[in-house]
Amino acid sequence: MKKSIAILGSTGSIGTQALEVVDQHPDRFEVEVLTAGNNADLLIAQAKKHKPNVVVIGAEDKYDYVNNQLDPLDIKVYTGDDAVSQIVEMASVDIVLIALVGFAGLKPAIKAIEAGKQIALANKECLVVAGEIITSLLKKHPAVIIPVDSEHSAIFQCLTGESPVEVEKIILTASGGPFRNHSHEELQSVGRSEALSHPNWNMGTKITIDSATMMNKGLEVIEAKWLFGLKPEQIEVVLHPQSIIHSIVQFVDGSMKAQLSLPDMRIPIQYAFTFPGRLDSSFPRLNLTEMQTLTFERPDIKKFRNLALAFEALKKGGNAPCVLNAANETVVSAFLDNRIGFLQMPEIIGSCLEKIDFIYKPGLSDLTDTDLETRNYATFLVEQVKTKSGM
Ligand code: NDP
Repeated sequence: MKKSIAILGSTGSIGTQALEVVDQHPDRFEVEVLTAGNNADLLIAQAKKHKPNVVVIGAEDKYDYVNNQLDPLDIKVYTGDDAVSQIVEMASVDIVLIALVGFAGLKPAIKAIEAGKQIALANKECLVVAGEIITSLLKKHPAVIIPVDSEHSAIFQCLTGESPVEVEKIILTASGGPFRNHSHEELQSVGRSEALSHPNWNMGTKITIDSATMMNKGLEVIEAKWLFGLKPEQIEVVLHPQSIIHSIVQFVDGSMKAQLSLPDMRIPIQYAFTFPGRLDSSFPRLNLTEMQTLTFERPDIKKFRNLALAFEALKKGGNAPCVLNAANETVVSAFLDNRIGFLQMPEIIGSCLEKIDFIYKPGLSDLTDTDLETRNYATFLVEQVKTKSGM
């Protein structure tokens, strides 16, 4: 039987690769819903090709344009943030891929859990911000989350058939990004275009900057805590510049299990769609005999302070990871607009973690307030940097 998929964020890096996966298996998958933020033309082209029943364009000013283009095809068009989260409740949807970037992924994730869907989760920020709320909702509803992030997909695959109590620790691998070998002094002058040149992965702009600052790994540490029920001391990060081993589980008997493949996000996306089974694919294979050495290093958390800040937020708990995420989204956007330098990103995030009031057990509305308050404070700090440096 075909599975119907809602792809939230279909115009992004993960969304477009998900459509490639669907193209490989037209007998197994069909697209029921596509959503985009601003990219109306790509959304229209995708809708004309995949013929979903519904599309949502987040940007309200683009609704008429999208609607006029898709009207002859009898595709329903909606707009606005609420529509993006409400469409996951459609009874005709079997799998929801959440490939929105940032805090925007939280509401649809909650709606998809409440609707009892199979969720292919690429958006890590929702677990970072509201991991406790999401995990407690998962206990009340028959929904399942299959991680799409390559590291978490690796851990998930290694844990299949294993008992969680027999896990000693997990090792998240990190490429180290484009600045792995840069000195602190060199990091002071790196700009947007260098930070966007990731050595191994071709991804959306926000996660590419997060990889360069190592905040991506920090967010993944917090994501792993919630997905796999781990304590902070059970999560280790190791640099592995070749991005072949996607992560490792170490068990109580000292045995380790790892998952390997070429760096290709279509593999974990397809796995999240086919779980608990697998399907064939034509994606390029890893040839072990042609592979060069696999190397591993300890990350330098003094140089990449974001990783230390993420562990700090994880250990503190409460609304601290929400502060970390909101501050990070704000500084990444400011860095991409050339309003602050590379090393000012962790500085501002650190100041936000110190300044914003701590809430021990935040509800959803506390998190929304924390998110807004942190963005305002981080924006104020960005403005101060601009004023001081004349950027
Ligand atoms: P992109 O920036 O490439 O794509 C984001 C998608 O979300 C686009 O379709 C965008 O629409 C849409 N979108 C953004 N903001 C909103 C909003 N407010 N309302 C509605 N739609 C919105 O991101 P990626 O695909 O790189 O990443 C998506 C998520 O997956 C992130 O959380 C990232 O951390 C995670 N991830 C990504 C990986 C990758 O290889 N790219 C790997 C592992 C995890 P539009 O472009 O039309 O504006």
